[in-house]
Amino acid sequence: MRVVQKYGGSSLKNMEYIDAVAKRVHQTAEAGHAVVVVVSAMGDTTDELVDRAQQVDGLKTARNLDFLLATGEMQSAALMAMALTRHGTRAFALMGGQAGIRTDSQFGQARITGVDAEALERLLAQGVTPVVTGFQGISPDGAVTTLGRGGSDLTAIALASAIQADSCEIYSDVPGVFTADPRIVPNAKALASLSYDEMLELASQGAQVLQTQAVLYARQSGVTVNARSTFEEGPGTRIETEQAEFNTLVTAVALDTHLTKIGLVGVPDRPGVAALACEKLAQAGINIDLVFQALSHDDARADIALTVADRDRDRAVRICQQTLGELGGSALVVDADIAKVSAVGAGVRNHVGVAATLFRALADAHINIQMIGTSEIKISCIVARSDAERALNQVHHAFRLDGKD
Ligand code: ASP
Ligand code: MG
Repeated sequence: MRVVQKYGGSSLKNMEYIDAVAKRVHQTAEAGHAVVVVVSAMGDTTDELVDRAQQVDGLKTARNLDFLLATGEMQSAALMAMALTRHGTRAFALMGGQAGIRTDSQFGQARITGVDAEALERLLAQGVTPVVTGFQGISPDGAVTTLGRGGSDLTAIALASAIQADSCEIYSDVPGVFTADPRIVPNAKALASLSYDEMLELASQGAQVLQTQAVLYARQSGVTVNARSTFEEGPGTRIETEQAEFNTLVTAVALDTHLTKIGLVGVPDRPGVAALACEKLAQAGINIDLVFQALSHDDARADIALTVADRDRDRAVRICQQTLGELGGSALVVDADIAKVSAVGAGVRNHVGVAATLFRALADAHINIQMIGTSEIKISCIVARSDAERALNQVHHAFRLDGKD
């Protein structure tokens, strides 16, 4: 079997951790499998390098920043190759570019444009285990590029696709994807499997098991990903093409507390008003999460409420203030004390009852719903921030994700 194994920074904190991982890889190779290892930088190395660059030039030179950040993965790859060799598995460290990962020149957020598997194939044919630096590639003019934070996941999936690996295993300090964040919902359970689309909905809700770009790449190339723990045995979670038996109603619930609601109160109720409010935000590159319009006045006035990510709050408020002025609206309301509770599942699309169950669960807990949003496989409610954790637990229970009636 051909296996790609990716190890995250928390699995490579120090030399003891690296040695333990090397031992595990060695055993896999000894069992007769062809292994390609992908590594992240050790522990918090990338954050530390970002801090240093921040102090020197305020992160202004993207090309040099990528060059610096790439050194984190180079260290762990070299040390891993040495540790493997010491255990008796011959291994060579390779930079992303040397392993055939070609990208565009968007430093810091480079896109993979192609993968040339030749170097890996040559090493595998010689019985050498390649240890590839995650998170990086090479631009058309030969510069080192990085693939966005968390990009080692993407490296592993791209390489698994290129060498047609039988399995792509992503190792971290958690045993997989859960039915809810276990720090908030104590009886959350690790899922056996979920679809790429479900994972994407959860990733954008802050379930940081896999980088979003990596899931998109996996979906496009059809690579089945197995997310599992370095530190405990267990099957982990498969992220794969949607299977018929997935059709449980709701697979997982998620909470996003990094949102702000902005209300434009008393704007004219006529065509083009919502368009104007949203266009300006779009032009500024601000993503609107949910929008809602209510006809709350009998004087042909309406209220528009929208939510944006907290990081965009200040800019969004400024733009909305301006829009409100242009429209002659009466007030701007900004509320950062909100949270979004979402139920995600491939089964959502076939069952109206899912929305009813969600609303009933919140109603029974006396939690007020401020806004509602839906996508094909997700239903979300905005609630007060102070209700957020309770709401998530209620909804988790209402969909029987804790296995209790
Ligand atoms: N070391 C990089 C980061 O911290 C890439 C990765 O770990 O996947 O974002
Ligand atoms: Mg990661």
